[in-house]
Amino acid sequence: MSASGDEEELSHLFSKIGFQESKIKEILKNKKVSNSLKNIVLESNAANELDKPTSALLHNLATLDKGGDLVNRKLITDAVVDGRLKTNLQVSEAFKYVKATGDNATVEGLNEASGVGVEVTLDQVKKEVSDYFEQNKEFVLANRYKCVPSLLNNIKNIPSLKWAQPQWFKPVIDENVLALLGPKDERDLVKEKKKKPAATDKETTKTASKKKLTSASALNNDVPQRSMFSEGFLGDLHKPGENPQAWPELMEEHLKATGGKVYTRFPPEPNGFLHIGHSKAIMVNFGYAKYHDGHCYLRYDDTNPEAEEERYFVSIKNMIEWLGFKPWKITYSSDYFDKLYELAEKLISIDKGYVCHCTAEEVKLQRGMKPDGTLGGERFACKHRNRPIEESLEEFRNMRDGKYKVGEATLRMKQDLESPSPQMWDLVAYRVLNAPHHRTGDKWKIYPTYDFTHCLVDSFENISHSLCTTEFRLSRESYEWLCDVLHVYRPAQREYGRLNLTNTVLSKRKIAKLVTGGIVRGWDDPRLFTLEAIRRRGVPPGAILSFINTLGVTTSTTNIQTIRLDSAIRQYLDVTTPRLMMILDPIPVEIDNLPHDYEEFVTIPYKPGSEKFGERSIPFTKTVYIDRSDYRDEVSKDYFRLAPGQPVGLMKVPFNVSVKSVEKDSTGKVIKIHAHYDNDIAFKKPKTYIQWVPSSVKHKSPVSIEEIRIHHPLFLSENPAGHPGGFLEDINPNSEEIIRGAIIEPAFYEVQAKSPLNMPTVNEEFNIKEQPNTPESVRFQALRIGYFCLDKDTTKDKLILNSVVTLKEDVGKSSD
Ligand code: ATP
Ligand code: MG
Repeated sequence: MSASGDEEELSHLFSKIGFQESKIKEILKNKKVSNSLKNIVLESNAANELDKPTSALLHNLATLDKGGDLVNRKLITDAVVDGRLKTNLQVSEAFKYVKATGDNATVEGLNEASGVGVEVTLDQVKKEVSDYFEQNKEFVLANRYKCVPSLLNNIKNIPSLKWAQPQWFKPVIDENVLALLGPKDERDLVKEKKKKPAATDKETTKTASKKKLTSASALNNDVPQRSMFSEGFLGDLHKPGENPQAWPELMEEHLKATGGKVYTRFPPEPNGFLHIGHSKAIMVNFGYAKYHDGHCYLRYDDTNPEAEEERYFVSIKNMIEWLGFKPWKITYSSDYFDKLYELAEKLISIDKGYVCHCTAEEVKLQRGMKPDGTLGGERFACKHRNRPIEESLEEFRNMRDGKYKVGEATLRMKQDLESPSPQMWDLVAYRVLNAPHHRTGDKWKIYPTYDFTHCLVDSFENISHSLCTTEFRLSRESYEWLCDVLHVYRPAQREYGRLNLTNTVLSKRKIAKLVTGGIVRGWDDPRLFTLEAIRRRGVPPGAILSFINTLGVTTSTTNIQTIRLDSAIRQYLDVTTPRLMMILDPIPVEIDNLPHDYEEFVTIPYKPGSEKFGERSIPFTKTVYIDRSDYRDEVSKDYFRLAPGQPVGLMKVPFNVSVKSVEKDSTGKVIKIHAHYDNDIAFKKPKTYIQWVPSSVKHKSPVSIEEIRIHHPLFLSENPAGHPGGFLEDINPNSEEIIRGAIIEPAFYEVQAKSPLNMPTVNEEFNIKEQPNTPESVRFQALRIGYFCLDKDTTKDKLILNSVVTLKEDVGKSSD
């Protein structure tokens, strides 16, 4: 039958039971849904027209079913048709129930799960809502009208109101809000006000709009604004308790253990340093739990003893803390080795596991690998698959007791070779490894695989949301299979898209080559994108978090160019750092008409327009330094700085200086400028102002900088790994520029002493308190040059600076 013939038949069927033509059109757009609806209508035995609410509920059921053929779906259909289920919420609860119980679903069970017969009256709703307002009075008073959406959400989730008519909530809440707050007034219009830039405080305005963008108070449990946790992939996740179970009774135990809170985990393998991609995983897991007032474990997935090293364990924890998160508990997969072993024996004893002695080559053939290396050939079971349970058990114990060498035996899951998914083709659960483990020492000769360990440890830890990246999509089936056959609580694995950075390499193996080849200074070289490197480069943790928040979370991979990341960092630094005057290549300017002990204090705000940064006083003295690039022998049309005949302003100094004469060395290089302070003539606005640093022993100025490291991209192309000669051929030979002999004004010491500045406007969003006394938290904008921080190589008397980012994209040192 043709597709249109099919459609005709369906529209006839749907209109017979009372769907309107326009609705039918909409339904037919989705093949899966219309197919489900057809089956639902047929099984409903409805001979005549149904009333509109009933047909709408059946349509809703079809939307949930979406072409799947749910076992026992008829229980729900019947309950809709006979009027027991009256709302979409009831239908969806009934659906969840039937889906989770399958063959065991009963009418009584369904009635209970979907609140059949539970009557919640309007009076009850009014009472509960008014109690809620009583308990949360302070919060509502403090947050006024902007908290209404979150109130609605919270109140809907009050358990005793679960089965109330959903349309009652809004009017009842509005009534209470009005009674408590009165009508809206100017306090409730804050947003519009902030949008208008106030001329006096440009920075505050910028921060305000930025704050809105980056979800601001989302983590403070305030009113949810734009946030990666409330929208997109994370916003759509199930609530605790809603993830289906093969054994529903296990859900009760789970909820008892968690109290219905969100439980997540961040499970790195301690076999390398974390990189920028991991910061997304950290924020997704720790952030989601925090946003929902739940808990997130740091779980070291240490089932690969050969690759693990102490320094990775330490670094991983440090990086999580640096990003402002605190693990609820720190655990190790190896904590559960005994329990995992027991379950492995159980797997064998229920005939869902067997010990196999096939070689890797043989297993590949069994899994349908063709001679050209691709899958898709015929699959077949190996001869060990059906050996007696007792024999497998004995052999598994032999494995445990060290009677087999590496590769001679594995424990395999007895899954489903007929399944289309490779994750179901008898995965390995345990393998022999003759490696001591950093925590369990020599106790084990066998170690569980990721596929066996991950889901079970998630289950032991009562994880409500096991969030991982999309390459694990297929693993979801084996994950659920294993939990179900072993009769343990089944957490819900959900997959989001990775964050990749282009123009660099992130893989451990590649970075290791750069490190061992001496191309970079180490794993934390500021030109790399490990988190250690990003921290050392002086990037504030809040910049990373707001960047990731802006990207949002979806199921697609996000590819970002390093320059886009830089630009997000620049924006963040713009509102969080003080400005200082630094001179890269100083020339002394001696002002002939000032006495030796001349001191004229000028006050300069640390960040013009942002009072909260404070200000400093700098003495203008007889000799000051300016940058070599700010002087020329000749004036030209587009050159506005110092030259004979062209005076210049020194930042905030009341009068200009003009050139009298210039001293040069034998090569013609300027070594000193003699100048005149124009305080004896009428002030004339200079063409421009330049930065300067005084010379004054008394005021410990200038501060000399041993070394400034300016960082440029480490690779030349967008895709270094794709270089035909290998990524090492793509290295930029000038990625690190070293500048010696630079100087900075003495206010640097004050900035250093006060760092980390933790400017409230930005850091409060993500509750980050950076560690004090860390070199990288001493950051500032060097006026007209760029953003810098102290490097960890700094010693008591040798200052070393890193460039964080330039002031503008593609612009290094300013030259006109
Ligand atoms: P890599 O292979 O890049 O070194 P990995 O996957 O081996 O990383 P794990 O230590 O296993 O690193 O990762 C811990 C968690 O971080 C996992 O949940 C993983 O999905 C997640 N993760 C790893 N890389 C990224 C990325 N680029 N974007 C988002 N999440 C990531
Ligand atoms: Mg991994």
